[in-house]
Amino acid sequence: MISREDAAALDGEDRLGSLRDEFVIEPDGPIYLDGNSLGRLPRATQARLSKLVAEEWGLGLVRSWDDWIDLPTTVGDKLGAAFLGAAPGQVLIADSTSLNLYKLASAALAARPGAIALDGYEFPSDRYVLEGLAQAHGVELRWFAGHPPDGPSVDDVAGALAQGGVRLVVLSMVSFGSGAWADVEAITEAAHDAGALILWDCSHAVGSVPIELDASGADLAVGCTYKYLNAGPGSPAFLYVRADHQPTMRQPIWGWFGQADQFGMGDRYAPAAGIGQHGVGSPPMLGVAAVDTGIDVLARGGIDALRTKAVALTSLVVDLHDEWMAPLGFELGSPRDPDRRGAHVSLRHADAWRITQALRAEGVIGDFRGDGVRLGPAPAYTRFVDVWDGMARLRDLVAARRHLAYGVETGRVT
Ligand SMILES: *Cc1c(COP(=O)(O)O)cnc(C)c1O
Repeated sequence: MISREDAAALDGEDRLGSLRDEFVIEPDGPIYLDGNSLGRLPRATQARLSKLVAEEWGLGLVRSWDDWIDLPTTVGDKLGAAFLGAAPGQVLIADSTSLNLYKLASAALAARPGAIALDGYEFPSDRYVLEGLAQAHGVELRWFAGHPPDGPSVDDVAGALAQGGVRLVVLSMVSFGSGAWADVEAITEAAHDAGALILWDCSHAVGSVPIELDASGADLAVGCTYKYLNAGPGSPAFLYVRADHQPTMRQPIWGWFGQADQFGMGDRYAPAAGIGQHGVGSPPMLGVAAVDTGIDVLARGGIDALRTKAVALTSLVVDLHDEWMAPLGFELGSPRDPDRRGAHVSLRHADAWRITQALRAEGVIGDFRGDGVRLGPAPAYTRFVDVWDGMARLRDLVAARRHLAYGVETGRVT
């Protein structure tokens, strides 16, 4: 039996407890367990954006581009150092994750034409982008089944590679649905042994698990910044191209922000040397600034402490699931082994959508994906008592069958 006092005691010992004060949190507001979908607003970001709008844009006008122009690469370097295990010159803040995936997967296909292997349970946008690319280039998509909740395993990936011809493997480092954390080193090795490049989607991994892109031998990576990095709705994503690939990876959208001598306004496109080539058009500076402050705030916690707390928070969800929710017809939709889990947990139930709606109405925000209620207690600002209270409300509403009052039709956003 885990009591609320036990949860409060964990908060008392929490080394990251004070990091919560760096975020805008409504007193007596809802319990927020959806930090893996849209992170909270850091106070520093509110201040930074106010200043950017009032002073840099309002007064500085076009002159402010002198300060803005290098931010996508300097913030990329900062992200690389703090959360990606990437040396400088390999990370750029740009565009959306979907678009960055398109650019880098296209570049990989041009460099090494062949089949693309991906998980049937991969995030929808990633699947769609790769479907479109495969059709346009006339290459095969080699699907494998990632076997949730624990997969995809190295065997799942190796099975797809065994038939030969795969030149690019695309995979989420942490699965958006189950939260499964892929065996990065083993899968990278399997891809390389088969002559394929590996492109990691780090969207649910960045800020929730330690990432070592350089050390693991990753070729390419993309990821978003509005989840655990807390950079706000639609904030620009990042991309990573390993230094030794940069001379051969040519992305297909030739814009002036990827041009060698941008303000030379030359007649013909000539790609910038280095990571800058992967820019396209004007970066959204409000968003880039929010990525910058989001990294600063999260880096004050540090990935080691964030990871330790994420394990403890998700373990509390799993323990309370076993104690309270399994008897009510729930099934764990995430890995039981915390070493194979990111920072969110899926609780599967046949009525998951109605339960998610009822849960929100009762003041606990999670979301609905596939067949599960997905809970992302982001370690930067979620307390153990938040998890305990949220799970208690979930238990009580399902036990009283209050979710049956909600419709089965899903909304535009779930
Ligand atoms: C959140 C997420 C995205 C988001 O893509 P956008 O283009 O930013 O909307 C992409 N891939 C994965 C795996 C994600 O989790």
